[in-house]
Amino acid sequence: MSDKNVEKGAMLYEGKAKQVYETSGRDLVIIHFKDDATAFNGKKKGRIEDKGIINNKLSASFFRLLESAGVATHFVTRINDRDMLCRNVKIIPLEVIVRNVAAGSLAKRTGQAEGTALDEPLVELTYKDDARGDPLVTKEEAVSMGAAAPEEIDAIRGLALQVNDILYPYLLEKKLKLIDFKLEFGRSEEQIVVADEISPDTCRFWDSETGEKLDKDRFRRDLGGAKEAYMEVWNRVGDFRLSGV
Ligand code: UDP
Repeated sequence: MSDKNVEKGAMLYEGKAKQVYETSGRDLVIIHFKDDATAFNGKKKGRIEDKGIINNKLSASFFRLLESAGVATHFVTRINDRDMLCRNVKIIPLEVIVRNVAAGSLAKRTGQAEGTALDEPLVELTYKDDARGDPLVTKEEAVSMGAAAPEEIDAIRGLALQVNDILYPYLLEKKLKLIDFKLEFGRSEEQIVVADEISPDTCRFWDSETGEKLDKDRFRRDLGGAKEAYMEVWNRVGDFRLSGV
């Protein structure tokens, strides 16, 4: 049976933008991408039409790019418009944020104007806990909370910076500035792999010439044109396999 014909089993988990399904007898899951959009820890709810389709395709493209550059991910294949086949990894309960330019919560916390370039990429860790709004944690706090071992956190930070080193120039060539992004990691057979998704839901992309926001901030901040912005990112980035890189 080819990977594309794997059967969807019971739903294991439903998140704000995705569902995770078990598959028949193998160490694989199917991730289903929805159009539902939320912000501010679920307080703002809405839909971005076709977002699930674009995020599935974009995530597949970015995961393939990372794999081709030697970074392991949970990605196996894209099955259809909204479904992605992935390895069933144990998600490490940390959100790992990499920033190249001050924006969002960093700009708010530090008082730096949004758009201020950072001398060096910054990595932040937040603990995945909706009830407490995913609080920022230090490495030591993450370790003492049992989220991961110290060596795992060092590895995760290294991987996150490696992902930035791959994505940043790739996107800039497509006239997209990678302002910041969030990664999640999973444990698979003693290996740590990039998991979850990489999309305009989880990254800030600004047009490198005009500064126009082409990401979920269009929804968060009621700027309008969210669907068009997601489409624009897909039109520029497209399928990594076809890009000839
Ligand atoms: N992010 C995310 N999920 C979260 C929080 C943040 O994908 O639960 C992404 C967000 O899209 C941005 C980056 O992480 O690309 C940094 O977000 P920030 O901390 O500035 O948070 P926000 O401004 O969304 O509160």
